[in-house]
Amino acid sequence: MNSIDVEKNKFSKIGATVASIFLCFVFGGAVAHSVASPVATADEKSDMARLDEIQTLSDRDNTEGLRQLQEFKRTLPAGTSDAVRLETLKVLVTLYADAGKIKLADATINELLQFAEAHHNKDAIALAHISKSLEILDEGKPELALAKLREVQAAVKSSSDPEVNMRLNAAFGATYKVSGKFEQALRHYLEALRLSDLQPRRKVQARLYKLDAIAALYWNMKDPEKALATSQEAIALSPLANAPKTLSSLISTQGIALSNLGREDEALDAYKKVLKIGIDANMPGTEATALSNISDHYLIARDYRNAEKFARQALAKSVAIDDKTGIATAKINIGFALVGMGKIKDGVDYVKEGTKFYQDSDSKVNVESITGELATMYEKAGLYKEALATLRQQQKLNDELFRSDRSRAVASLQEQFNADQRQKQIELLAKENDLKDADIKNRRLQQIVTLLAAVVTVMAGVFIFLLYRRVRKVNEQLQQANTQLAFHAVRDPLTGLYNRRSFVELMKARQAQTEAERREGSADNPDCLILMDIDLFKHINDTWGHAVGDSVLSEVAHRLKKAVRDSDMVLRWGGEEFLIYSPKSNPVQITGLVDRVLRTIGEQPVEVGDLRVPVTMTAGFISLPFSGVSETLCDWEKTLQIADMALYLGKAHGRNRAYGLARLLVPSEQAMPILERDLSAAMSGGMVEMIEVIGPEQNKDHLTG
Ligand code: GH3
Ligand code: MG
Ligand code: MG
Repeated sequence: MNSIDVEKNKFSKIGATVASIFLCFVFGGAVAHSVASPVATADEKSDMARLDEIQTLSDRDNTEGLRQLQEFKRTLPAGTSDAVRLETLKVLVTLYADAGKIKLADATINELLQFAEAHHNKDAIALAHISKSLEILDEGKPELALAKLREVQAAVKSSSDPEVNMRLNAAFGATYKVSGKFEQALRHYLEALRLSDLQPRRKVQARLYKLDAIAALYWNMKDPEKALATSQEAIALSPLANAPKTLSSLISTQGIALSNLGREDEALDAYKKVLKIGIDANMPGTEATALSNISDHYLIARDYRNAEKFARQALAKSVAIDDKTGIATAKINIGFALVGMGKIKDGVDYVKEGTKFYQDSDSKVNVESITGELATMYEKAGLYKEALATLRQQQKLNDELFRSDRSRAVASLQEQFNADQRQKQIELLAKENDLKDADIKNRRLQQIVTLLAAVVTVMAGVFIFLLYRRVRKVNEQLQQANTQLAFHAVRDPLTGLYNRRSFVELMKARQAQTEAERREGSADNPDCLILMDIDLFKHINDTWGHAVGDSVLSEVAHRLKKAVRDSDMVLRWGGEEFLIYSPKSNPVQITGLVDRVLRTIGEQPVEVGDLRVPVTMTAGFISLPFSGVSETLCDWEKTLQIADMALYLGKAHGRNRAYGLARLLVPSEQAMPILERDLSAAMSGGMVEMIEVIGPEQNKDHLTG
């Protein structure tokens, strides 16, 4: 009998469990004489005893048991009873399964079903269907298996056969367990355990299988202590059965429970024992399971090299017997080992390949378990986020597993599990928090960098500001220079007075104005022009030198500026010629100004060093517009020309004096053509009224020459 009735390995549960349930439980228990015939013949009794003997032999040596059973079946005489033939087929199925010959086992089940149907043996038909449902379960379809078991249950409701009832309950237990309905599974297993005591033969074996199944169930229910206690209880019974196969299964369960309790060394010893039993009893499935469990042990110990080594051996064994679950398990273990060695990509590929089998099946139990293991691997690899996500996925699956109305025991188990989960989550969250801390530290660093950057920016700003200030200073200097340039453009460098050009500009602007604008408010207060020329300046230059001449020019300019109003404009018209432009001044007002000007220049000699240079000026003055004549008729240039003529009139009349034109005495049309060309003619023609202003008294000597 195959004893692999429990999950040997976290990742190999389904395969080992279902296959072994299917293999061992249908035909592994008591031989039901009553099914075949109520009255057993002597031949029948001896045949049954022989089958018993072969089965017991197979417990120790499956190959030899199988060989003898095949021989027994082949040599059955023609008159052999149905009961013996049925029993032969049942035992044969079991031994095939133990040998890993799944197809032969399956074919034998079909043979059994045909025989049972042909003989209208309801109980035998039920047993065949139960084993078929376990095959379906093994294919990863627990819902279908459950439906089939319910059909069997309905069909054998009235059956009094303890074997049928026991196996039906055990099959229900296995199916519910795979579906994650642990309470129902436990209820059915306990009923099967009770019924095992009612079996006519091989009671102990039957009991051992049920205890093994229950221990495995406890493991699934996250209660390794109960799992360990149950498996130890069974192991204590096992010498009674002298059944190494059963024992191997129990030891596997014990090993898993020990591992779950953190007693890894003891667990490894257990797995090694199982491996030895598998090899000795010719049970490749048991061997594969043991190898997987050993690999798992090394995974936990983080000895990934050994983990991979044993997982690859397990894979080879599983491939040899075409055990899909075993193959999936081995691949997952190889994957985890590779991940552990840092070969993440290859490892994940293996895990995915392996888990696909479980994902394709409806087994929540296995997916949950693998998910948990995956979370551990992620955690080990430092992938805390992935670990957390996987753990949450596991939690969700786990919630589903423990969802429905559970017994108090299960509830408390779940509590404990949840506490573990919470602890685990807290640890992971703490690790994630560490990451967050690192993140925060990083952010702080960033803030500092930002701050530094800000400081640098500010400093750069200060620097730029300083630069800017310098630039601004330079600009100011430049502007000053420009102003100076502009100043010089409009000012005379020697005297600082406006130059001729600036006056021309001013007059151009004046011309741009309309007549009305120019006249507005200026009919009685026209602008006034006083043109002046220093008397006998050549003489000053010649007498004291050019430099003194320059100083005289400067002083004259200074005195002129002092003499005029703020609104008046003093210009250096030429060499030693000056012009005063006095806005809004009538000729009477201007006469006063002219008088002031002549005196300010001529009253006191100009002091240059020790020298006292007497200076006088002669001026001609006129208003603009002149005597109400339109500026279009007599513009500023013509007006200034007339002033110049007046000035020369002053020169001609003895200098140090001024002549001004008060007003026209005749219509402008009549006066202007004459006046433009010849002031003297206009004067003698009585066309213009003149004003004469005499300068201050002067040394006559100076004025001559
Ligand atoms: P008048 O009374 O007839 O005006 O006699 P004047 O000597 O002033 O005769 P005029 O106006 O013809 O001579 C002007 C002289 O002024 C000629 C020139 O050498 C001199 N002059 C012109 N500009 C400057 C100057 O910037 N500095 C000096 N030192 N002399 C100048
Ligand atoms: Mg002159
Ligand atoms: Mg002169």
